[in-house]
Amino acid sequence: AAKTGGRNRVVDYTSTLNASTAERLELRRSLAGALAAGQFFLLFQPRVRASDGAVASAEVLLRWQHPVKGRIPPDRFIPIAEEAGLIGEIGLWVLREAMQQVSHWRMQANPPLTRLSVNLSPLQLAHRDFLPEVEALAAEFPQARGAIELEITEGAFFRDIEGCVHKLGRLRAMGFDIALDDFGVGYSAMSYLSTLPLDTLKIDKSFVQAFGRQPTAYAIASAIVALATALDKRVVAEGVETEAQAAMLRQLGVDELQGYLYSEPVPVAALTQPPDGAREPASVDS
Ligand code: C2E
Ligand code: MG
Ligand code: MG
Ligand code: MG
Repeated sequence: AAKTGGRNRVVDYTSTLNASTAERLELRRSLAGALAAGQFFLLFQPRVRASDGAVASAEVLLRWQHPVKGRIPPDRFIPIAEEAGLIGEIGLWVLREAMQQVSHWRMQANPPLTRLSVNLSPLQLAHRDFLPEVEALAAEFPQARGAIELEITEGAFFRDIEGCVHKLGRLRAMGFDIALDDFGVGYSAMSYLSTLPLDTLKIDKSFVQAFGRQPTAYAIASAIVALATALDKRVVAEGVETEAQAAMLRQLGVDELQGYLYSEPVPVAALTQPPDGAREPASVDS
């Protein structure tokens, strides 16, 4: 395409633009009926404790199985759902599924997991129906209390930081933990981080994956851990793919690690139960 003449290039460029706009419109149309049609499902990516590798929690990741186009990644359909005003409904479904799942696990003798993290869109959080809807879910699933962490991004604070801080405080009072996702790539000023009601900072995977290639990446990760420690917050690193990255993160004092090194996002059935009595100390008598 680079070799074509000026006129042709313009034509190509325009048709590409049109194609992607048409594609977006089409996705937007099919997205409207996707929830009712049962086209969404959830995958779970374990998060392990840095100290001993024990599975501490898992992140819930939404998937859309389009009947014709196949699997569409969330980075493509979430922005469209936000634009189309569908993110509230979809996001609430995700949270409800997660709370139901964790409640179910908490009633089992040897559950594979007892905690989950759920991603929230800034638009979802900003909507006035969000808190009452979550309150209703919390009442419906009392067993899930203390088991769910909500992951927000710095974009949530962009327009209305005070409103956001108030909502996060209410969510914490309902028993939810709050994590700041993709930390380090947004617009956060370090100075206001201390005033936000947060439990966890998630170091963005771009830093982890640049370890060994960009000296600044390790320096930034190190600064994030120092900040989190000073503010008494848990630190999680995402996108951990190699043992070398894991070793560096452990060295830095990161609490939990998440990434393909441990597991890809998997269906619920693939989350293996710990063996019977795994949490009990070994005993010769029994
Ligand atoms: P995120 O919340 O930062 O999630 C982490 C993403 O990194 C996931 O992509 C995960 O599959 C991917 N990942 C995990 N380990 C590795 C690794 O070792 N290497 C690499 N290269 N990637 C890894 P995924 O599932 O495609 O989700 C992308 C984004 O879509 C999420 O980023 C989140 O922002 C959004 N998302 C996913 N599910 C939901 C949801 O239920 N609601 C909302 N609002 N957003 C969601
Ligand atoms: Mg996340
Ligand atoms: Mg992230
Ligand atoms: Mg991300």
